[in-house]
Amino acid sequence: MLFDRKALIPTPDTLKPVEADLMARLAANRLFWCGRGATALYFAYRLIHRAAGKTRGEVIVPAISCPTLAATALMAGLTPRFADCDPETGMMSETSLNERLSEETRAVVFIHLYGQTVDLSGLRKICDQRGIFLIEDMVQALGGCTPGGQQAGSQGHMAVMSFSRTKILECGGGCLALRHEVLERALEEEARCFEPVEPLPPEAARILAISSRNLHHALVGFMRLDNVEQVAAEFLKWRPFFDRLYVEPMTNPDTVAATWAGLQSSLSRRLEKAALYERLLEGGPWKLLRGWSQSGVSWRYSLLTDFPESLVRLSEAVRGDGYHVSNLYWPVQRFFRPEDACPKADSFGRRIINLWVDDSVSEKDVEGCAGSLLKHCSDS
Ligand SMILES: *Cc1c(COP(=O)(O)O)cnc(C)c1O
Repeated sequence: MLFDRKALIPTPDTLKPVEADLMARLAANRLFWCGRGATALYFAYRLIHRAAGKTRGEVIVPAISCPTLAATALMAGLTPRFADCDPETGMMSETSLNERLSEETRAVVFIHLYGQTVDLSGLRKICDQRGIFLIEDMVQALGGCTPGGQQAGSQGHMAVMSFSRTKILECGGGCLALRHEVLERALEEEARCFEPVEPLPPEAARILAISSRNLHHALVGFMRLDNVEQVAAEFLKWRPFFDRLYVEPMTNPDTVAATWAGLQSSLSRRLEKAALYERLLEGGPWKLLRGWSQSGVSWRYSLLTDFPESLVRLSEAVRGDGYHVSNLYWPVQRFFRPEDACPKADSFGRRIINLWVDDSVSEKDVEGCAGSLLKHCSDS
């Protein structure tokens, strides 16, 4: 099924081969194609309401995440709660998740982060026992496998994908995979009751997206200075202005179909660059995250520095040398619900550095970027 401008319609013929490939890989029963990952999440949450016959409840999301998971939950009427992370990987810790589970919990979202993956059979069992849904966010691990050898995205009741700019495939679009009869029926109902949303004009969408990113960067800056309660209160006031960005129809099924064939070669080019970073950065004052070598996906090459107090200075210096570097994975409970304490994520957010491995950088850029990091990490 595809979210077109005016309705939910059958999957167009051009997308059928991709759909068959994805359903086989993920052992999914049904796919829902849409304009971006955020839209897939928003519909996933709506299906949960329909399936549970309720209109309220909580969803547990990882503290180390983009704000999209929590923002779309609020749009769909679910209250986001935040689970702390494994300090080694940044991914959701089962211990913390268990502390957040309550009678109100309707679903858990797990993110396979930066291309690292986790075997989710234990988490799936917990969810099945409680009669709640597990959503796998595989945006950053598209095409990867878990340590148990299963496809990332094949263990949850639903799996979320994005083909937006900066993700693994950048042709635009999003997809939700369903693996449960109740959810399939909920999607049928969703199609029957569908009310068209007027998409934003492209220029307005562009301006709003820039505004959202700038606000995020500005607030992370404030939060580095520990202004947390006040910043969260301000952010929650502004947040609804950006809701219109999140519900987008799919407009480019032909492009998605044409790009899909390039997935494996895109993954290999990424792995080559990750391996090069690994060789060049080994032995520096940081811990290298190595999950990519097992999963077969590197979304960004990631490392945790040993010197959080000078991380901002370091990334400014590397940017000054002309290389992409990001350290904006700020624990999102600090925006939405600071009282859900996540101390490990707080520490992780002050140490993480992400480096680019996509086609916008060459092997020469990787060498230059690694050299710049090594040079500037001993500056102070
Ligand atoms: C980018 C991203 C999303 C949202 O995808 P969009 O296509 O940008 O809406 C969801 N989850 C994760 C982990 C992401 O990185």
